[in-house]
Amino acid sequence: MNKQELEIIKQKALEEHIPIIMDDTLEVVDKILVDLKPNKILEIGTAVGYSAMCFSEYLSENGMIDTIERDEERIKEAKENIVKVGVAEKINILEGDAVEILPTLQGTYDMIFIDAAKGKYPFFLKEALRMLSPNGIILADNILYKGYVMSDYNKHKQRTAVRNLREYIYEVTNDPNLETEILEVGDGLAITKKCPVRDVF
Ligand code: SAH
Ligand code: MG
Repeated sequence: MNKQELEIIKQKALEEHIPIIMDDTLEVVDKILVDLKPNKILEIGTAVGYSAMCFSEYLSENGMIDTIERDEERIKEAKENIVKVGVAEKINILEGDAVEILPTLQGTYDMIFIDAAKGKYPFFLKEALRMLSPNGIILADNILYKGYVMSDYNKHKQRTAVRNLREYIYEVTNDPNLETEILEVGDGLAITKKCPVRDVF
């Protein structure tokens, strides 16, 4: 992969205020992926392909990333970017609204990266859990949303997003079959795994 091109794409995205994954969040994800060696990754929210291209380094042989994006301009740019960086054969861009696309997906994913409309996180979680492989990991970016999620100030215009992010956190921390950690890296990252299956006696 062409790291120089990737760096140029990153700088352009930052200049254009496209909310690409933050460096400290990426560091955490990198460590997870080194151990996980995923074969299939699902990403919700491609933007210009930056995070997907970063993750593609850690795929096992013949591994693939499916990534969903609804914005036509960004889809066009992402398609050009994955060619420039030389990872187009590992990244499959699914075009359209994730709310419509997710229910049509079959099969399982080893890592699912949720990074799109915050108001839809509980729905994305439900779909992610349906498709998560037994040792898989679900990551939810921007889960603390500039601190709004943990503050009791409730009157800002983002309150629907905040309510849904809180619901996501409630569900992943109260489900006895799930283990979740919430890190204050970047804009907040929730890391969720299924509990190891125990014998019932
Ligand atoms: N993962 C990217 C950043 C994604 S930004 C990176 O780190 O490089 C979030 C993207 O999600 C935006 O491009 C937005 O258009 C897209 N998005 C938001 N809601 C969506 C939805 N419901 N379906 C598909 N894409 C969505
Ligand atoms: Mg994000």
